[in-house]
Amino acid sequence: MDVKLLRVTKEGIDLVAKGAKLSGVPLAQSAREIVELITDNDYSSVLEHIHFTLDISGISVALSRELLEHRIASHTARSTRYKEEKGFDYYIPKELEQKGKEEEARIYMEAIKIANEAYTKLRELGVAREQARYVLPLALHTHYVLTINVRSLINFFMLRLCVRASPEIRELAMRMYKVCLEEYPIIFSKIWCRGFTLGVCPENEVRPEGCPFKKLLPEKREVKGKFERDAKRIIEKELKGFI
Ligand SMILES: Cc1cc2nc3c(=O)[nH]c(=O)nc-3n(C[C@H](O)[C@H](O)[C@H](O)COP(=O)(O)OP(=O)(O)OC[C@H]3O[C@@H](n4cnc5c(N)ncnc54)[C@H](O)[C@@H]3O)c2cc1C
Repeated sequence: MDVKLLRVTKEGIDLVAKGAKLSGVPLAQSAREIVELITDNDYSSVLEHIHFTLDISGISVALSRELLEHRIASHTARSTRYKEEKGFDYYIPKELEQKGKEEEARIYMEAIKIANEAYTKLRELGVAREQARYVLPLALHTHYVLTINVRSLINFFMLRLCVRASPEIRELAMRMYKVCLEEYPIIFSKIWCRGFTLGVCPENEVRPEGCPFKKLLPEKREVKGKFERDAKRIIEKELKGFI
């Protein structure tokens, strides 16, 4: 898997600060201070002015389907209709490369081989790519160009840097994060999974043992539980005052 930066909005911090100054942010504040305030307080619509375009290669079709679920982005993937897939590259889950998983790895590789042979034979028999492609596996490598704004990237990182994300998309998120952090450290140093970014983990009881923040960050339910009953009384009072 590889992630390369194709294009990024230049001088994005000044651009965001300029936008924010139209709506109540003190004019005397520096661009850096404004962007920190926006990131900390989640006034994130102005962050939509900064775009990243990334070249993403060596990812599986299974991962590309997960990526496509992030609708606030522009997606372009290699076509299996117009491109030949004979002898395709493919994803191997790291778990299957571990010692003791030889039989599982053998079955996996055998399935890939059968798919490749079926595709190649169909193509040799003159079957069009758009028909032959249906025998290709989800492990098939694809190539992607993604354009995404910073607000949507933050949402992506919050969901996909979580240890509950599937391993391949988490690896992609890590690689994308490195690129983004290098370009805009002021913004991305404040971002990681939802738990880190929000200060509470919304995964509650499904947070796995392997979560590196388990001892550090409280669960959302734990924090909310402390004030929920009193807060609900306040909401009832607020509603009565209006209706
Ligand atoms: C651990 C994990 C497990 C998952 N499991 C599944 C699964 O089993 N099945 C499955 O289908 N998906 C699954 N997903 C994908 C998930 O449901 C989202 O589709 C995906 O993470 C994209 O998130 P998003 O909608 O926030 O992003 P985007 O589509 O980029 O949207 C960004 C934000 O825009 C807003 N938005 C976008 N579209 C709408 C809309 N139509 N209406 C209102 N607001 C909108 C929302 O605030 C949203 O958060 C999983 C994701 C994770 C992280």
